[in-house]
Amino acid sequence: MLKKIKDVTAEPQKRLFGLLPEEIKTLMGDLGQKSYRGVQLTQALYNQRIIGLEEITVFPAALREDLANAGYTVGLPEIVQAARSVDGTERYLMRMSDGETVETVWMPDGDGGERGDGSEASLEEEALDGLEGNISEFGQAAGKRDLRNVGALEQKGYRRATICISSQVGCAVNCQFCLTAKLGIKRNLTAGEIAGQVVAVLNRHGIKIGKDRINLVFMGMGEPFLNYDEFIRSVELLVRHIGIPESRMTVSTSGIEPAIRAFAQEPLRPKLALSLNASNDLVREQVMPITRKWNIAQLLDAVQTIPLGKREWVTFEYVLLGGVNDQPEHAREVLDLLKGMRAKVNLIVWNPGPGIAYTQPKPEDVAIFQKMLIDAGMPAYIRRPRGRDIYAACGQLKRTVDLPEAAALVEIAPAASRRG
Ligand code: SAH
Ligand code: SF4
Repeated sequence: MLKKIKDVTAEPQKRLFGLLPEEIKTLMGDLGQKSYRGVQLTQALYNQRIIGLEEITVFPAALREDLANAGYTVGLPEIVQAARSVDGTERYLMRMSDGETVETVWMPDGDGGERGDGSEASLEEEALDGLEGNISEFGQAAGKRDLRNVGALEQKGYRRATICISSQVGCAVNCQFCLTAKLGIKRNLTAGEIAGQVVAVLNRHGIKIGKDRINLVFMGMGEPFLNYDEFIRSVELLVRHIGIPESRMTVSTSGIEPAIRAFAQEPLRPKLALSLNASNDLVREQVMPITRKWNIAQLLDAVQTIPLGKREWVTFEYVLLGGVNDQPEHAREVLDLLKGMRAKVNLIVWNPGPGIAYTQPKPEDVAIFQKMLIDAGMPAYIRRPRGRDIYAACGQLKRTVDLPEAAALVEIAPAASRRG
């Protein structure tokens, strides 16, 4: 059913970004170097966040040359185009070293009350940190402090930001409502390319890990669980080496049952969001043909094998499609499905895209749907669309530079690397 995906990881790895410390150590050994050089290179790649070999100033010039002569590059994805939405969201076209491109989205966010970007899993943590309050109060608080000691986000009056990253070039899953599906699948991204999107965006905004609060959502182009090993390896890079805790990451899957079961066993595990999107198999088969392979019951069964932390729940995403899955009977079915589970539902109003024959749900139907869930005791949020004017919202990523003429957007030149 799913097209065979080109395995880029089988090709010789000449990009340093993405290598794990033990691999870097081996590489330095092969070049006749002592192991501390490996430690230095690891630090340069993941802490210093270098973009070129010339920045490894702790290395003698001859060693940098040796690396370059052997064909090694840092190999971070490069932001080749950026568009900024009226709501502050930025959408980037990222070019990989072979010229393939994917999209990555930056969502600065100063409103702890909103449930806007899929990363709300970490909101409780923020509340516990005593960070509740509105932006202006926060901005004032920041103003009283020495700004040299605060992160780049805080200086701009934001409390956090979320980066939405892609896991594949295109997608094989063919959900009928999604623009990415129209591309088909080109190839998997490597772990370095997945984590590299994050680093490219961190560099652009001068983000200081440890000072700035960054959330990640694996909700861009592609199905992360169909590129499972590289996805997991990217989590390892991001958590252990770049320093973003897994509690601030959420991965969304369309429902690859065996991968959900494997995920339940992982030592490093982001939070999980399952794209339910329908209240019964019949409707789900229409909108997500992959349901024929793994039905709702199988998926819910697999999801329940995930050991949940104290303040953890499973998120079910539910894209509301006008007249298709947004009626009261559907809300009742969703409640039946999720009964007894530590779950919450993220309702996503369908974002339109060219050539997709759905309609948006009526606002009153969205409100009724949400109220029915909440009244029955199921937490339900409506995800605020981010960057819809620049085609950066859920399901609108399609590796394109075409933008609707009416959109209010600012084209911005790729910024020079600015690191914190
Ligand atoms: N492939 C993964 C992650 C990327 S899609 C998945 O499908 O879960 C992230 C979320 O966007 C999913 O919940 C998906 O159902 C939703 N989505 C896709 N197209 C959409 C659209 N046009 N409007 C709103 N949400 C959409
Ligand atoms: Fe792929 Fe997710 Fe889009 Fe479905 S919704 S086609 S799985 S990116």
